Amino acid sequence: MRYVRTEKLHIDVPAPVAFLLSRLNAAGYEAFAVGGCVRDAMMGREPNDWDITTSALPAQIKKCFRRTIDTGIKHGTVTVVLREGSFEVTTYRIDGVYEDGRHPKEVSFTDDLTEDLRRRDFTVNAMAYHPDLGLADVFGGREDLQAKIIRAVGVPAERFEEDALRIMRAVRFAAQLDFSIEPATLAEVANFAPRLEMISRERIQTELVKLLVSGRPDRFSLLMDTGIADVIMPGLKPRISTRLIGALERVPAHPHLRLAVLFADCPPEEAEAWLRENKFDNDTVFTVAHLIRYSFFPFEHDAPGVRRAVCAVRPEYFPSLLKVMRALDRIPDLDGIEAVYDAVTAAGDCVTLKQLAVTGGDLIKAGIRPGPGMGQILQQLLDRVLEDPSLNTKEQLLPAAVLLSKN
Ligand code: ATP
Ligand code: MG
Repeated sequence: MRYVRTEKLHIDVPAPVAFLLSRLNAAGYEAFAVGGCVRDAMMGREPNDWDITTSALPAQIKKCFRRTIDTGIKHGTVTVVLREGSFEVTTYRIDGVYEDGRHPKEVSFTDDLTEDLRRRDFTVNAMAYHPDLGLADVFGGREDLQAKIIRAVGVPAERFEEDALRIMRAVRFAAQLDFSIEPATLAEVANFAPRLEMISRERIQTELVKLLVSGRPDRFSLLMDTGIADVIMPGLKPRISTRLIGALERVPAHPHLRLAVLFADCPPEEAEAWLRENKFDNDTVFTVAHLIRYSFFPFEHDAPGVRRAVCAVRPEYFPSLLKVMRALDRIPDLDGIEAVYDAVTAAGDCVTLKQLAVTGGDLIKAGIRPGPGMGQILQQLLDRVLEDPSLNTKEQLLPAAVLLSKN
């Protein structure tokens, strides 16, 4: 293996990672930081996690450290637990034949770093680094990083045939890193899009969310252009316009907000069903559908109207809804609504039953019989208070409630 070592290429490896590498080296094994952490560090991005690849076999890795977890022994992965955190250490590996377009039937271990790099998906993800030796870059990752290109390691069609998730990963990395996809790789992304049928919903969801919350959510257009969207969201795709894709970056990078914008022209029930099918958590399913539904709310601009809207949408969702509305640019004078909303919030105006100055208990004490009628009375009191917050006192509401109960 030839290593590149230049001043410019120096990577600041965190102390626990340097410790892991030297401990493995001292036991006679090769060991490198590898994959996403090397890519990110070279780009000046903060890596999510530092993965280590080594010539040591799992049992040998375990002998080097006091605390380890058998994360994926069959695939060569041991988690080493240090005081500073946990790190995945994986034996140099060759992936065997892929059976189902996703999982290698078997993996075999190797003592050749090049083989381990060869199994990785993209050139920028296929570099390894050692603080003393320098950079191992067999597939031109450094050049592609410079040129901001996502390029498959080896023959793109073969790599996507092995594992179709890689076509989603290609688009996700293009969005996260703000790279373009090399033309031959991109052509095969489109060719292999139908193979995403073989990939679990959870994995597709994870990639999609990473893409949407990235710095270039507009790269969603690659999913449209390559036919991926036809496979992963056939029902919703016709409702996703370039206008909506362009609006994505106008909401903060939160999954709920970005999904609500993306699906803003879809019927809420259809978006909801799709989110559920694709294994989104209940909070996301509910929130996104709720935001889509209320993005059509007939907003009024005066204070009672805004209070009624906050009450209907529910206060905890209103700020998010405003963000979505702003990105969608559907209604005029959102600034005005927002100013009124700020005033209503600052005044602490009552916008929920909970904030009403009287409770069900108060009404019972005042002699009103419990039951469904009482709920209606409370709702009517709330309606009045939404109209005029100064009515929200026990002195005014109790007599009003008694009157209502007699009708
Ligand atoms: P991030 O953690 O920022 O999402 P990453 O590059 O670290 O990005 P991971 O999914 O954590 O991505 O994978 C770590 C490394 O493992 C990758 O950089 C790549 O070398 C390799 N890898 C991961 N998934 C695949 C795959 N499906 N096919 C081939 N190699 C893969
Ligand atoms: Mg990672």
